[in-house]
Amino acid sequence: MIIGLDDTDSKEGMCTTYLAAVLIEKLKAFGRVEGYPLLIRLNPNIIYKTRGNAALAIPIDMNRSDDAGPIKKMVIDTIEEMAVFSAQNTNPGVVFIEGSSDGMKNDLARFSLRAVQDVLEISEAEELLLRHRISHKGFKNGRGLIGALAAAGFALTGLPDITYELIAYREKKRWGTPRSIDEDSVWKAAAQPDTWDTVDYENRRIVFAPHSPDPILFGIRGKSELAVRRAFSFIKSEPLERYVVYMTNQNTDMHLVNGKISEVLDFCSYILEGTVTKPPRTMEGGYVIIEIHDTTSAIECVAFEPTKGFRNIIRQLQVGDEVTVYGSVKEGTLNLEKLKLEALNQNEIKNPLCCKKRMKSMGRAQGFRCEKCGARAKEQVIESIKRTISTGFYEVPPSARRHLSKPLARFQGHSEASFCAH
Ligand code: ATP
Repeated sequence: MIIGLDDTDSKEGMCTTYLAAVLIEKLKAFGRVEGYPLLIRLNPNIIYKTRGNAALAIPIDMNRSDDAGPIKKMVIDTIEEMAVFSAQNTNPGVVFIEGSSDGMKNDLARFSLRAVQDVLEISEAEELLLRHRISHKGFKNGRGLIGALAAAGFALTGLPDITYELIAYREKKRWGTPRSIDEDSVWKAAAQPDTWDTVDYENRRIVFAPHSPDPILFGIRGKSELAVRRAFSFIKSEPLERYVVYMTNQNTDMHLVNGKISEVLDFCSYILEGTVTKPPRTMEGGYVIIEIHDTTSAIECVAFEPTKGFRNIIRQLQVGDEVTVYGSVKEGTLNLEKLKLEALNQNEIKNPLCCKKRMKSMGRAQGFRCEKCGARAKEQVIESIKRTISTGFYEVPPSARRHLSKPLARFQGHSEASFCAH
């Protein structure tokens, strides 16, 4: 059986991963978790999300395959007991996949990927649940069924790229109080191989622990269970209530779709190739905007204030630079997560130089004249520009990274150190 669940928490407390962690413990009486529980990040632009748009799936090998009733009852009872039903935006959903056909696998593979890359309606989840006779329960408006079915779908059909996260949970009596974690131990853990985003080296910040009142103490992300466990062994902190190692689609860029600028839609995320058409502008509030175009259209791309040093890279771009941009589109603007500077514009067209100053234009097609000595020239000249930036990949720092964004450390052959934005 695969149990999928979503939308049980509110901004004031709880967390669906914690509910899953409690269920994993309770499920031991009914069977064995098969492989890993899945922590799936869905479309990061969904307005209904509480925080990171997470959904969970637990594949379980049941002791007695003929009687699923008691498991379903236990799961539903636990949701009823723990979910924050009072919050307006909390609409829990749970699904139980108990068998599969090729048709169901195909439908779910498509649905799950769309839940990461697109915006779905509750009715689409309900239609699939009905078509494939998947047992489920939606609470309140049932929106959680979207994420629950998508997560269960990935558990059934697989993920093309995976990472791991070890999430440690706090004792209940400490929820809402400041987290007690020894800082030195975190920097030691962060230095362990094949893990990332425990700390933000550029901004000298610890980023693996949330600041919200939820049950999570911290999360360690990495390439394998071994890697996250190794880093975990260095952490000194307040006592844990429990911890779980999840398999995830985090840091895989699964939300990004290759596209042309004219095709982009709000609430979706893209990889777009283009040429810089307008020089960078720093706006009030500290965000930086450039405009790029391809053969189909133009789009503004923005690096927000929390992206810190990444904005200095964007500020060094010039008209004519060729770039590939990565990010989500909101109100017609792409919010930059990464940028690859493919080719630098090394040339600039300028008015000719004379007497250490630029000549002045005498009007359209009238040529140029030196204001000091009166010398004339017919045309503008091409001059080479001295550039201080190199071609290559640049990314936002870990403190500004979205859950789904793939860090450059995960791109084959690139070490984090040589590609961070400074
Ligand atoms: P947390 O991560 O702390 O558990 P959250 O950020 O995951 O909270 P939810 O409370 O789960 O947010 O709310 C997200 C809601 O949006 C869920 O009901 C989920 O089913 C729904 N949803 C997720 N992805 C999509 C999508 N692509 N289209 C439409 N609805 C979606």
